[in-house]
Amino acid sequence: MTTLDEALAGLPDYDPNQMTVEVARAIIARTASPVSAIEQVAVRSALGRVLGRDVVSPLDVPAFENAAMDGYAFAGTALAAGGAIRLRVAGRSFAGHPFDGVTAHGECVRIMTGALLPAGCDTVIPQEQVQREGDTEIVTFDAAAVTPGRHVRHVGEDLAAGHTALHAGKRLRPAALGLLASLGVAEVPVRRRIRVAFFSTGDELRSVGEPLAPGNLYDSNRYTLFGMLQRLGVEVLDLGVVRDDPQAIEDTLRTACREADAVITSGGVSVGEADFTREMMTRLGNVVFWKMAMRPGRPFAFGELESEGKRALLFGLPGNPAAVMASFYHLVRDGLFVLMGAEPQVTPCLPVPTATAIAKRPGRTEFLRGILAADAQGRWQVTVADAQSAGILRTMSEANCFVTLGTERGDVAAGELVDVIAFDGLV
Ligand code: AMP
Ligand code: MG
Repeated sequence: MTTLDEALAGLPDYDPNQMTVEVARAIIARTASPVSAIEQVAVRSALGRVLGRDVVSPLDVPAFENAAMDGYAFAGTALAAGGAIRLRVAGRSFAGHPFDGVTAHGECVRIMTGALLPAGCDTVIPQEQVQREGDTEIVTFDAAAVTPGRHVRHVGEDLAAGHTALHAGKRLRPAALGLLASLGVAEVPVRRRIRVAFFSTGDELRSVGEPLAPGNLYDSNRYTLFGMLQRLGVEVLDLGVVRDDPQAIEDTLRTACREADAVITSGGVSVGEADFTREMMTRLGNVVFWKMAMRPGRPFAFGELESEGKRALLFGLPGNPAAVMASFYHLVRDGLFVLMGAEPQVTPCLPVPTATAIAKRPGRTEFLRGILAADAQGRWQVTVADAQSAGILRTMSEANCFVTLGTERGDVAAGELVDVIAFDGLV
């Protein structure tokens, strides 16, 4: 296991006051280490979980030779004669109802897609290519319409018995559940679910259901964090709102550290508040405070906590609601995947023309809230949301993507390509 100090030592020079997203992500990924426990769960319960060990196929898929088209199965040697081929239909092989006879020379079998190829047959002629002679059981077709062995699916051609069907570290999606079922697998080994505790800090915050006094506002970060964590499939532990009081925060961090694999806080890491948080957090472990070269989400703390022999990763997010979400997606999420034992997750980031010009200062990465839509001609384009301030949740809710502008990028003109990360694909 790599400690935070080792992870920091292994990297080139960086400036904690101008920390790049890439370096921060690398440090987080190196410091996090996967939970080791593995449990056996039923295939349906494995949705969204991380596979703990490779799953080797106990079967050949397909398990029997079958037709790839609706048509007539016959022995390909019949084609050697060339010209018009004339065969007698000796029977039928339908899915689940195989032909149980034997075809003789000059015979064929009516066959449907997926049905067992009868003994002695190795070729299927699609039904569109044959003429049936009136009501008779005779079909004719041109020998040139098919080659021997065509339109047949072979045993094990999708997946051979003994081969790895799914690799350890895979997050199981619906296709994987179906694949497991197709192999007759009822249960799979998955990593134990990680537990993530979170709480909000701020004397001004009230929880939903409480009255608001002047200067108070409702805590929304615990709700966005709940939503984002829930979708990752982790176990969540909501520790509520904690006052801006070092002792109260320390007590909550100790509880969180004992109970969870990772702790996410929001608020209390900005310049004005970082000092007392820093003092308190360093009593519990090794925490670094960065000023990220990113927007939104400039202040950020990361570290390892230890309390009563238990360890947990700490992610100290800023307080502003949109900054919480941007920091979670771009800094925390991949670290949690490492903890979960998942293989690195690819987040598609695609170039799309921007409908509007964007003012951008080089030197920091910006994650703008955008709206991806097709124009009147059906071409995709992205429009940057009207308000990008770190405190505004409304545009985060209206947006359906992040427009990512890298460190080097300056002002962007309308029509230029920008990198877009869609919030949702097929869910
Ligand atoms: P801080 O990082 O604690 O200085 O907070 C920055 C801004 O985010 C302040 O305007 C806070 O009131 C606001 N804020 C902090 N935590 C929350 C929260 N949980 N929900 C909504 N707004 C918050
Ligand atoms: Mg605060």
